[in-house]
Amino acid sequence: MASPILSVRDHPHSDESLMGFTLRLSEANHFSGMQWLAEVFHVGRIHHLSARHAPLIAWLFGSEPQKFHALHATLHKKNGRSILFAFGHLITRPYLMRLRRPQVCIECLAEFGYVKCLWDFVLVTCCPIHRTMLKESCDACNMNLSWNRPGISKCRCGHDIRLGSSEGASNACIAYSQWMALRLVDVSNSRSAIISESPVLSLFSDMSVDGASRIIWATGINASALETIAAGKSKKDLSTLQASRCVERSIQRLHEIQKTQNFANIRPAFVSSSLLSILEDGLCDSDIRFARGLLLEGKLRENPKASLLHLNPLSQIKLF
Ligand SMILES: [Zn+2]
Ligand SMILES: [Zn+2]
Repeated sequence: MASPILSVRDHPHSDESLMGFTLRLSEANHFSGMQWLAEVFHVGRIHHLSARHAPLIAWLFGSEPQKFHALHATLHKKNGRSILFAFGHLITRPYLMRLRRPQVCIECLAEFGYVKCLWDFVLVTCCPIHRTMLKESCDACNMNLSWNRPGISKCRCGHDIRLGSSEGASNACIAYSQWMALRLVDVSNSRSAIISESPVLSLFSDMSVDGASRIIWATGINASALETIAAGKSKKDLSTLQASRCVERSIQRLHEIQKTQNFANIRPAFVSSSLLSILEDGLCDSDIRFARGLLLEGKLRENPKASLLHLNPLSQIKLF
């Protein structure tokens, strides 16, 4: 194949998203954003780049397609349902990703100068390194950040988003984003140290990224048993703040159960239908065992005389 036509070339960082890489290299080659690529791909606007775009992107910027294997998020259909292969992981609920609603760590943009795959997960609401909340809007114009911005650190209004301020994150959100970061990039030597900070997340150690995300969502999305969010609404467009509340509630509730075994007060706030759906299609045994434990172990403890559950071998599984 002929040499790339663009003068600034690079390979992606090991945790850089395909979208972020393309925006970074477009900017480095003096384009304003990715709109120039819309003409290359014969589309009106670049909303999302997936696996099928990777070979051409790699060629344009002098890299290799295989380097993007775990750096894109691509939608597939399975049994009539949309699922995602996202950054090396199967994600069975696309509403757990925010592919068209970027959020960023402004400290990472300033320090490392690239966009990370991790930020595209809805329930990752803070930076595991800087321990600050991710930002989804511009401090100057208050508009949500967009992939149609001129550069990785530049809002459409022209403001340098690195100059904004960021809030500190809660321990629960930090622990979860660290757990996710370790799942996306294998840093096995630091795993045990970080897991030990969160007894709840140590329970997730064998779960898939998909299973963990779905458990966090199902156990944290409702503010209380009385204050439930309509399913359709909650599955769309959680803001960074709403998602952080979901993570905090989930981890606090799971911690409470782990500590006191008191299911009765807590379990009514869970979205049982979502836990049940994990039983049906969890990606691995640990996902299924965890969801089953929350459903059945809880029922058993609330009503020890529930004879049917006593007879059910599944109810004997010890979760905590
Ligand atoms: Zn950061
Ligand atoms: Zn702006």
